Amino acid sequence: MTEALRAGQYVHNTATEQFETELAEFLGVPDVVAVSRCTAALHLALLVAGVGPGDEVVVPSQTFCATIHAIVMAGARPRFADIDPDTLCVTAATVAEAITPRTRAVLPVLYGGRAIDLNGVHDTVIEDAAHAFGSHQAATRVGATGALTCFSFGPIKNLTCIEGGALIPRTREEADTARALRLLGVTQSQAARIRSSACQVDGPGWPYHLSAVHAAVGRVQLARFGAVATMRKQLWRAYARELAPLGTVSLVDVDVELSVPFNCVIRVPERDRVFAAMRNQGIGVGVHYPPNHLQPAFARWRRRLPVTEATAQEILSLPFHPGMSKQDVKRVVSTLQVAVEEAAA
Ligand SMILES: *Cc1c(COP(=O)(O)O)cnc(C)c1O
Repeated sequence: MTEALRAGQYVHNTATEQFETELAEFLGVPDVVAVSRCTAALHLALLVAGVGPGDEVVVPSQTFCATIHAIVMAGARPRFADIDPDTLCVTAATVAEAITPRTRAVLPVLYGGRAIDLNGVHDTVIEDAAHAFGSHQAATRVGATGALTCFSFGPIKNLTCIEGGALIPRTREEADTARALRLLGVTQSQAARIRSSACQVDGPGWPYHLSAVHAAVGRVQLARFGAVATMRKQLWRAYARELAPLGTVSLVDVDVELSVPFNCVIRVPERDRVFAAMRNQGIGVGVHYPPNHLQPAFARWRRRLPVTEATAQEILSLPFHPGMSKQDVKRVVSTLQVAVEEAAA
């Protein structure tokens, strides 16, 4: 961190490159392109995959709005797919139902950190793995499964740079294209730029690079990721144990053996009343996410999604910070139990 500040080159320096190398080693992939956010990674992934105007991208509505914005930024149209009520993830079947002749790519969201196997459903799979850093699909790490994978390193994600993201390219060519696009179309190395009196701009681009200061934070966090991953799994399992006796509450299954859980989400009847009661007791519950196909911004692409619409009325995210103790979990669940009973009365 101090090194990154002392170097005096905050935009993009060796810290960013070191972070990319360490991420590639951790994931077991040949290359990683670090970027400013997951939204930027998704936008670049769509562009390097050749997605553009006239194309449709199959995507769940049950995601953070940034996923859908990235598709619109690429000039394409979202084609919303329904989800499995137990995992809140798309499946091969719900994706297949949504595919049309105009489908250029499939963009699954690894909700809660759970890997999704869409092998054979479409040639181009771009993963929104904002929740899933560190998770596995069978024996393979998410990021190394052959999809174009996008991670977020925002403040609440499994691995954080405070603000940051990464794109896992499938080929050397995709990596080169993504590197040019993330730095406003400038492909010269930093050393060459400093030596030369003319900075050459080779093509289109966006200011999507990861600052050296954020990369330095990421490097420190990556070194302690194993400990954080263990804490997240333990926290999720503690919730699963405490919630088991509550009859009307069901836990969204994150596949904790293979996943590093991002959150702990339940489905509960009378969710809005339970939400208000929990908030009144000072418990920081949330709703992730209001479905995007019902948002005014994306109304043009609305279609009926029965499971998404039904589960959206029931989902409730419980406080999920890796620093929480077993006592904290017990307090959340006992408050929840009272709230659920009162809401049913
Ligand atoms: C956080 C998040 C994003 C956006 O990530 P940023 O790094 O903030 O751009 C995209 N998709 C999902 C599912 C997220 O949770």
